[in-house]
Amino acid sequence: MTLGECLRAAVKKLETSGVAMSSLEARYLLCEAGDFTQPQLLLDTEIAVSPKVAQLMDTLVERRVRGEPLSRILGHAEFWGLSLTVTPAVLDPRGDTETLVRAARTLMGERLEERLRILDLGTGSGALLCALLSEFKASWGVGVDISFAASVNAKQNLMLNGLDGRGSVLSGDWSKSLIGGFDLIISNPPYIEHGAISELAVEVRDYDPALALDGGTDGYDCYREIIPDLPRLLNSGGWAIFEAGAGQAGAIKATLESSGFTDAVGFEDYGGHERAIAVRKSF
Ligand code: GLN
Repeated sequence: MTLGECLRAAVKKLETSGVAMSSLEARYLLCEAGDFTQPQLLLDTEIAVSPKVAQLMDTLVERRVRGEPLSRILGHAEFWGLSLTVTPAVLDPRGDTETLVRAARTLMGERLEERLRILDLGTGSGALLCALLSEFKASWGVGVDISFAASVNAKQNLMLNGLDGRGSVLSGDWSKSLIGGFDLIISNPPYIEHGAISELAVEVRDYDPALALDGGTDGYDCYREIIPDLPRLLNSGGWAIFEAGAGQAGAIKATLESSGFTDAVGFEDYGGHERAIAVRKSF
């Protein structure tokens, strides 16, 4: 079988099973299976693929067909232009979550050169922490996650992106082990209603860790835990930015208001959902 034939067969299989970006995903899978580069797939279409590579490719395509996300199969994902290792212990970083980084850039853009102190609560893969440290180049940051395995993954991503000199990761229960002094607090906490988890798409339900998804009975448990601690943790003039699930912005703003944070600013994702909710500590 030639490389071209192998690729075409994979595209067809993915397409038939409803994978939307079948040709793109097939290319990534084939690069993984045979250690090829993307240009090779286009230039060397006539070379023979070894039976071992063909067999591995079949296995990878089969995993994708059964609903395993591409990033899980490849073990890495892209977030804010950074390459991140993604282990089964962490949430697959989502494009929508980049809205929070955009919010931080927009609200604190004039402080890019400052030595800000950043906190990422529920850091998971460290996606948000890495993205913020890559933007705010003089800042220092800490990520916290209750899962030790996730903290290791986040630390690994700081190192991979050359950010470990300015970032560290703790495993712990939200901010309980921290005193405060932060200029920017960011969090994409678990916010799916407990009862809705079983109805999520296979890609999410079977591959994202439940710990990273489950927001309790109404989905807001984590916000209720984190928000009352913000006045203690934030420096005056500092910002806190939260991710909100579709339709959750109103309830999160109400929780923020009850802790003294009025004038919340919302940022929409490309789907038109108010995805990032930001508040400033003015007291
Ligand atoms: N902060 C990580 C992310 O946004 C993990 C979030 C989570 O596990 N809920 O991808």
